[in-house]
Amino acid sequence: MALIVQKYGGTSVASPERIKNVARRVASWQAKGHQVVVVVSAMSGETNRLISLAKEMQAVPDPRELDVIASTGEQVTIGLLSMALMNLGVKARSYTGGQVRILTDSAFNKARIVSIDDASIRRDLDGGSVVVVAGFQGVDENGNITTLGRGGSDTSAVAIATALQADECQIYTDVDGVYTTDPRIVPEARRLEKITFEEMMEMASLGSKVLQIRSVEFAGKYKVKLRVLSSLEDLGREGTGTLITTEDDIMMEQPTISGIAFNRDEAKLTVLGVPDRPGIAYQILGPVADANIDVDMIIQNVGHDGTTDFSFTVPRGEFARTTAILEQIRGHIGARQITGDNKIAKVSVVGVGMRSHVGIASKMFRTLAEEGINIQMISTSEIKISVVIDEKYLELAVRILHKAFDLDHAPA
Ligand code: ASP
Ligand code: MG
Repeated sequence: MALIVQKYGGTSVASPERIKNVARRVASWQAKGHQVVVVVSAMSGETNRLISLAKEMQAVPDPRELDVIASTGEQVTIGLLSMALMNLGVKARSYTGGQVRILTDSAFNKARIVSIDDASIRRDLDGGSVVVVAGFQGVDENGNITTLGRGGSDTSAVAIATALQADECQIYTDVDGVYTTDPRIVPEARRLEKITFEEMMEMASLGSKVLQIRSVEFAGKYKVKLRVLSSLEDLGREGTGTLITTEDDIMMEQPTISGIAFNRDEAKLTVLGVPDRPGIAYQILGPVADANIDVDMIIQNVGHDGTTDFSFTVPRGEFARTTAILEQIRGHIGARQITGDNKIAKVSVVGVGMRSHVGIASKMFRTLAEEGINIQMISTSEIKISVVIDEKYLELAVRILHKAFDLDHAPA
């Protein structure tokens, strides 16, 4: 017997029919002898609807009241799923975040979980019930309802799994696992049996948006095994999804590279001809950070004639704002010119195997060179190499890299 936490996202509970399917799936796990806690999202589109309603009342909604409103979507699905389970003869009980006592800080709309009281959940599980908990929400120490930020149900599920020391936290969604890259671009992309937390964080942050990044970080920190599964597969014919776990847990010889990630949501800015002196990076990036703009890659070139060029990337939606900031400080920092390009993309090869293998970067650069794809920027971490290229070559780059690193075939 295992203790399993399952999370079903908005598309999995989008209609009464789908909720009945979820109930059947949950019941089948319980029938196998497992204890099951289910965490659900609101029905798909519902949270957006609730937030727009709030915005009709106040252009900038009061944060506390917004959470009172936004949290109701999940309250509906826990009740409906509990009823669907009862209809199948399964004992079930629903809980809001506050009823469990998922204690959070008081940062409305983006609260962090502080602690979870597992007493009632355990009592119900031991009494043979399935426990259904509302995702995305908690309560602060003064009893105010809080929410955890968009996509927060993943984090709720991981936190509950941690508190209960569950054997596995299963995230049910509309894809059947994590892929080596986006199958819409590379039809040969394969589902990964296993991937490490670290790799998943890189894949998620780079655009494979299967899981909220925060939940992966959380799971890695507490070593909660996460499994991504499809809620759309027929009962009895389900796949095994993708297990996200620790490196030690991946016993087989790992391929060097696990996947190719990419992100189109990028723009590049270059400050040309700034004096090459201490403090210049700070003078350029300080005002950008003060404006709450996320800077990703940064390059400063070798100086010549006492001046240098400085480039960095930001999310594409911040391109105009960042350009305006740079134009404003241009005179003050003594830069010759500001240029920018918002038609760029980032491509990355990701894999923990990089730590023990050399030549990954050169293979990546050679592969791109052979197709005449120019690399504009490069950045690396222990398990990732990223390049910025012209957006029009993105799909080609992903395809040739997927092939070059032998991801088209299952490892022998
Ligand atoms: N319902 C919330 C949202 O749409 C939380 C979630 O689905 O994870 O963001
Ligand atoms: Mg989600």
